[in-house]
Order: sequence, then structure tokens, then C-alpha cells
Amino acid sequence: MLKSEEVKRMAAEVGFEACGVARADALTDDEYPLREWIAKGWHAELGYMERNVDKRMDPRLLVPGARTVICVVSAYGPPEKGRDDGVAAYAQRREYHEVIKPMLSALRQKLAIDGKLCCDTVPVSDKHWAARAGLGWIGRHTLLITKQWGSWVNLGEIVTTEECDKYDAPYEHRCGTCRKCVEACPNHAIAAEGSPMINVARCIAYYTTHNPRPMPPDVDDGGYTLGCDICQLSCPYNQKIKPSV
Ligand code: SF4
Ligand code: SF4
Repeated sequence: MLKSEEVKRMAAEVGFEACGVARADALTDDEYPLREWIAKGWHAELGYMERNVDKRMDPRLLVPGARTVICVVSAYGPPEKGRDDGVAAYAQRREYHEVIKPMLSALRQKLAIDGKLCCDTVPVSDKHWAARAGLGWIGRHTLLITKQWGSWVNLGEIVTTEECDKYDAPYEHRCGTCRKCVEACPNHAIAAEGSPMINVARCIAYYTTHNPRPMPPDVDDGGYTLGCDICQLSCPYNQKIKPSV
């Protein structure tokens, strides 16, 4: 049996800024509107998102007998001051899979458990599990917003069959009536109402990171060549965050 306090202490020792523990059952369609997003066709040519939908919604289908999802946060902070090469903040730092995977592995070793390491490479939605584990909420721009580091965070998980003595409660949603990111997006990619959702066919980051096709002429690149920070820069919760790496 894992002890929540011990898991969090060890996550901090490994170097994570925060850790939350969630029970590994199915996410609801309200928590993660994946099916609605696909039905709208807003995943564009991200065909892989149509595969493994059930696993993406329920980690017990990925790791049989899973009871617990240990979620961790690694903060990277806002864009470097004075940099104007069109590279988004996350890509200004060391490639995050290279940073998080070894840290997750070290945490798993410290805890002396078996468990699947997840960091954007398996069908587990990092941000939705982080929200379930009380680490923040999903903003309208569809990123996790944490209280201390805003949305300038990378995420990872360990899905394990171990039970934990205590599970964290999901964080309260705090976007309220704000629509600053919706208004800031030059391509109107962010849904103004309903569940947080992005039409990736209108998103700069989709063309600069995922899609080998050229950006359509009616999509404004906002000056970005890798990723896009425009919606994050507009968010009130990101205004006072200092560079952390
Ligand atoms: S990343 Fe850029 S293009 Fe994509 S939704 Fe945010 S502001 Fe719009
Ligand atoms: S800009 Fe406003 S609506 Fe968008 S994620 Fe931030 S708080 Fe939420």
C-alpha cells in the first residue's frame, strides 16, 4: 500500500515541483471531452487520437489491474526574455521527454513499485490526469493551469496496480467568465463555450510541431516557427510566473 505523503515527498526529492495521486478509474466525458472533440472533427489529421479512445479514457485498459495514477509536474516557466526567434517557451528548454522520463524512472525505483511510465508517449492524457489528481484545472485553451506555475508545466504519470492510502480531489475550475485566450488566438481556434476544446486545424502549434504540411494561407502564424505561446501569454494566471529553468 502506497502512502500519499511518502509518494509526494519522494517526488519532491527526485526534483518534481508537485505531485498528486488519483484513483485509476475511467475519466468522465466531462473531465475529458475526447469523444466530442473527435466527433466535431477538431482533431484534424491527428488520426492516432481516434485509436485507443477507451484506453485514453480508462488507464485500467492500458495497465490491467491499475489502481493508482501518480501524477507529477515539472515547471519550465514563461518564455525567455528578449528571445524573438518564434520558438515557444517549452521548446526553449531541454527536450522535456529527456528530462521527465529519467525522473519518473527514479521515482518508480524509490517507491519500489512496478508501474507504466507515461509522458506523452502512451495513450494517457497527462493534463486530464493531472487535473483529476488535484494539480490544477483544464483552462479554455485546454492546458493544465496550476496555481503556482500557471500553465508553464510539463507533466508525467506512473500508472500502477498499487493501492494508495489517500487520493487527491480534483481541483476547482477557475476560468470563470474569462475569455482572454479565446480572444487572443489569432485563428479563433479555441472554443468560447462548452468544454475546453481546440480546433487543431486552426492552431499554429499543430502546423509547427505535428503536421508536416505547410500552414494554410488563412492560418496566421503569429510569428511562431515552433509551437505557439499566444494563448498562454494572454492568461491572467500566467502573468506573475517567473522563469524557473
Ligand atoms: S497555441 Fe496559438 S494558435 Fe493554438 S490555440 Fe493557442 S493561441 Fe491559438
Ligand atoms: S485566459 Fe482565461 S479562459 Fe483562457 S485559460 Fe486562462 S483563465 Fe481560462
